[in-house]
Amino acid sequence: MLKDKRALVTGSTSGIGLAIARALAAEGAAVILNGFGEEAQIAQLCDELGASYNGANLMDPAAIAAMMEAVGPVDILVNNAGMQHVAPVEDFPPEKWDAILALNLTAAFHTTRLAVPGMKARGWGRIINTASAHSLAASPFKSAYVAAKHGLAGFTKTIALELATHGITANCISPGYVWTPLVENQIPDTMAARGMTREQVVNDVLLAKQPTKRFVQPEDVAALALFLCGEAAGGITGANYAIDGGWTAE
Ligand code: NAD
Repeated sequence: MLKDKRALVTGSTSGIGLAIARALAAEGAAVILNGFGEEAQIAQLCDELGASYNGANLMDPAAIAAMMEAVGPVDILVNNAGMQHVAPVEDFPPEKWDAILALNLTAAFHTTRLAVPGMKARGWGRIINTASAHSLAASPFKSAYVAAKHGLAGFTKTIALELATHGITANCISPGYVWTPLVENQIPDTMAARGMTREQVVNDVLLAKQPTKRFVQPEDVAALALFLCGEAAGGITGANYAIDGGWTAE
């Protein structure tokens, strides 16, 4: 389905991004991985997926520009890299706020602005932004993340309108809780912020949000991303797809 397509998936050395990269590669796309990790593990992933790799730090706009130059034209851009920090607003470290905004929101602006001219020239493109249920609803102690993800949803709608007549779609996928390192790593801070045990955080904070009482699977998010890359999804743009076990239905 994607044999002649080149796909850059940011933050694809782990979690949701890796699942999306696997799904696109399985359909024949030439995938470019990005993200951090051990050299040997990344080399193995490149082998497995027939992918290439660019390890740019997406908090740095100059590094993003260098990556986009090195990577060359892409048909599919998945802005997926993200991070979280959990703390009450009065204790929220300003440097964490800046980092979360830079990675979860501003990086998508830079990759998009640099990818769009090539997509326009070829009259085809797919931009998929991994937002979050937190692009649609808030939770306490996640001020930077919720602000960034709401911003990403607004950015996506705006570029969808700008690109609508160019054969380029732009959509958000908004997962609920998916069991990845990003979720696992926020458990200790959430325990501290809420005075809870680990089990209480999993059951009373994370899964409490999801009527299904199940974590969403990375492969399910990837299947939705793959659908959005297909021709049948050519009429879908500016949408924000929740895949959150019913969280934002409440
Ligand atoms: P993850 O921690 O498993 O993966 C994050 C990826 O981003 C990794 O590949 C990491 O190396 C990369 N990364 C981190 N900092 C980077 C930087 N400065 N430059 C380049 N790459 C960097 O997390 P995940 O859960 O798979 O999250 C992926 C996306 O999904 C994020 O945008 C996250 O906000 C979003 N999301 C996750 C969940 C969830 O429950 N896991 C829910 C909703 C949305």
